[in-house]
Amino acid sequence: MIFKNNIAFAKEQDNNDKLKSYRSRFYLPQHNNKEVVYFTGNSLGLQPKTTSSYIQQELNDWAKFGVEGHFLAKNAWLPYHEFLTEKMAKLVGALPNETVMMNQLTVNLHLLMVSFYRPTKQRYKILCEAKAFPSDQYALQSQIKFHGYDVKDALIEIEPREGEYSIRHEDIYSAIEKNKDSLALIMIGGVNYFTGQVFDMKAITEAGHKAGAIVGFDLAHAAGNLKLNLHDWNVDFAAWCSYKYLNAGPGSVAGAFVHQKHHNNTELPLFAGWWGHDKSTRFLMDKTFVPIKTAERWQLSNAPVFSMAACRASLDIFDEVGMETLNEKSTVLTAYLEFVIEEISKQENNCLQIITPKENRGCQISFVANGYGKDLYNKLIENGVIPDWREPNVIRCAPVPLYNSFEDVFRFGEILKSLL
Ligand SMILES: *Cc1c(COP(=O)(O)O)cnc(C)c1O
Repeated sequence: MIFKNNIAFAKEQDNNDKLKSYRSRFYLPQHNNKEVVYFTGNSLGLQPKTTSSYIQQELNDWAKFGVEGHFLAKNAWLPYHEFLTEKMAKLVGALPNETVMMNQLTVNLHLLMVSFYRPTKQRYKILCEAKAFPSDQYALQSQIKFHGYDVKDALIEIEPREGEYSIRHEDIYSAIEKNKDSLALIMIGGVNYFTGQVFDMKAITEAGHKAGAIVGFDLAHAAGNLKLNLHDWNVDFAAWCSYKYLNAGPGSVAGAFVHQKHHNNTELPLFAGWWGHDKSTRFLMDKTFVPIKTAERWQLSNAPVFSMAACRASLDIFDEVGMETLNEKSTVLTAYLEFVIEEISKQENNCLQIITPKENRGCQISFVANGYGKDLYNKLIENGVIPDWREPNVIRCAPVPLYNSFEDVFRFGEILKSLL
């Protein structure tokens, strides 16, 4: 497609957009009585207009039934998490018994590592990407220390080469090969939160397994952004949050994936809670833990119904649209944003440098504005754009296919240009 940086082109694209009706199903924040250009769906997705009715339903049933709502609520609370399972599984390319919604992302990473990071004297290293999201870095470091190993020795961080922003896959593979006798776990973000680089999860999983390691992914920036095939890729475990691309609201309930091949292994160590206990005998309150032979085994507690209700509202929309259709639009919309930024940069001494790779990306463009500091970001906000700022000098923009438009991209470009 030949892009043009003008309003007529943007409007024409919006008119032809199969998903154009979805924008009106979300609340868009306002600035001076005008919808903002919201490019932070990768940080906190917008609220679907249906969310309040999903939550209200549970408030009503709580008022009406009290504790009996666990059984009598229109959507019984006792198995409430099950209402999310099938749609979430579809979204990440998993079997329903491989997926469970529970806790929050960092909690899930820890719980899964309790089972899947089992270091021995020989195999104790973890391989991850350099500059992983801080919470992931803390989680990995603390797991290593918890098991009594030295972080400097046990944590292998793959960095971009000098002068580059993306990590080369060949560097990941050669590090796996080099450490193949001591590698216990590979734990990488499916999408790097900073650069927006997408990793080849299938190939990394294969390479990890060949070296005898377990492979897990943090899908915070991948779930609801990319088409995933966790089951077929043979990924061992994964976790993700639901408040970024998945629009389930601040701090909402997170997801976890454990591949079916691990389900019958009842010897796997884990931190157990009553919600991981066999459902048919859970309420006998017996002291012996009988693990569920699905991903639900990793649950600790009963379902946080309100945040799950919000998650459900959004999942119903995702299920209606499907990742395939979202990806189609996302690819073009992101390319359009890239084009607009490059056009403006050409007119402004090439001051804008996109650090997101052209291949291997989802709906995020990160760029450096050379010669401009955080002030540029602040001015964007003052002018009705909500992008995201990451120290030391990166602006991240995520035009998400569900509610962002080509006109958003055009408007963003006009505002950005006026500030340079
Ligand atoms: C957003 C994000 C988190 C946040 O973790 P929470 O436990 O949900 O607060 C962690 N890791 C990555 C890669 C993220 O992008």
